[in-house]
Amino acid sequence: MEIHSKLPNVGTTIFTVIGKLANEYDAVNLSQGFPNFDTDPKLLQLVTDALKEGYNQYAPMQGSFSLRKIISEKIATLYGNTYHPESEITITAGATQAIFTAISTFIRPGDEVVVIKPSFDCYEPAIELFGGKTVPVELEGLDYSINWNKFKSAITPNTKMVITNTPHNPTGTIWSENDMVQLQEILKGTNIILLSDEVYEHIIFDGKKHESAAKYPELASRSIICSSFGKTFHVTGWKVGYCVAPNALMGEFRKVHQFNVFSANHPTQEALANYLKNPEHYLNLAQFYQEKRDYFLDAIRSSRFKMIPSSGTYFQVLDYSNISNESDTEFVERLIKEYKLASIPMSAFSLDGFTNRQIRFCFAKTNEVLDQAAEILNRI
Ligand code: GLN
Repeated sequence: MEIHSKLPNVGTTIFTVIGKLANEYDAVNLSQGFPNFDTDPKLLQLVTDALKEGYNQYAPMQGSFSLRKIISEKIATLYGNTYHPESEITITAGATQAIFTAISTFIRPGDEVVVIKPSFDCYEPAIELFGGKTVPVELEGLDYSINWNKFKSAITPNTKMVITNTPHNPTGTIWSENDMVQLQEILKGTNIILLSDEVYEHIIFDGKKHESAAKYPELASRSIICSSFGKTFHVTGWKVGYCVAPNALMGEFRKVHQFNVFSANHPTQEALANYLKNPEHYLNLAQFYQEKRDYFLDAIRSSRFKMIPSSGTYFQVLDYSNISNESDTEFVERLIKEYKLASIPMSAFSLDGFTNRQIRFCFAKTNEVLDQAAEILNRI
């Protein structure tokens, strides 16, 4: 039997490939982005309570109402925009599902989707599956800033969607108010949908503020904004996220969502609805991760790696150009095999696998693991 792959150029994700290698070599693992510490026992207790209280059948298709309601309140407080819990908020099986469903809902063959590179790896395969064309716009310079003129010239009459991500995985950069205003101006008067990946919204450092698309009325009117409880509450394995969008966009999204997953898992939704009642649970996260970033960077200050401190997310990019001329995939593989330390090559996120001798580390780890990683990095 002949199989015609719909994704002939796609292999297994870098996170699975590196994760496997890291396990094989028993490496200190700072590759895939997930915390290695426990979640708050209070949240675990709330899930246990929900299981015992009988939340074991399908959640409503749109997600638990109490969770949608508290998300609506949270967004109104933080970003000054009200999304109606009944019609404008949907709970998804992680943000990746929200992103996939959004792309599948709106992208037709021939549609162009502007993607900022480097980018997280789930956008382009979804675009390709539905016959869309990725139009990349590369971030520039050591600080990975966006050139808005370049962005503007990537927009054509065929542009259907733009995908943005702040705080940004993998670079750890964030967009400013000025960036959002520029984006808003460029998209004004078009029919372009903005898919705004904001899964690291609460992990932002040095007193900076998260610039959600929800804060900008003209942007919000065309945006599907995705977020993730996995990142915020150290529960990436639960696969619970959500997205918000104006009624008309959300109506279309749900037409697909209902046949894609129907609904996300129920007991964790009830638990999260209760847990979100205390805003400290997410407002304290920035300080927590800033301390982790600083701990990690202090510990490797005497290493030969060059660093630009991350401004958000739990990732830190390190430049090894003082150390080796190897490609980043070769270097990462050698670090795992010879030094027992796992990271992610930046080329996995870059346009055409471009390598500029940088690798990404996840610092969502206990200080003990960060110490082990630093000890290795300091002797490379
Ligand atoms: N977001 C995580 C990272 O960037 C990976 C999630 C996944 O493996 N799909 O490392």
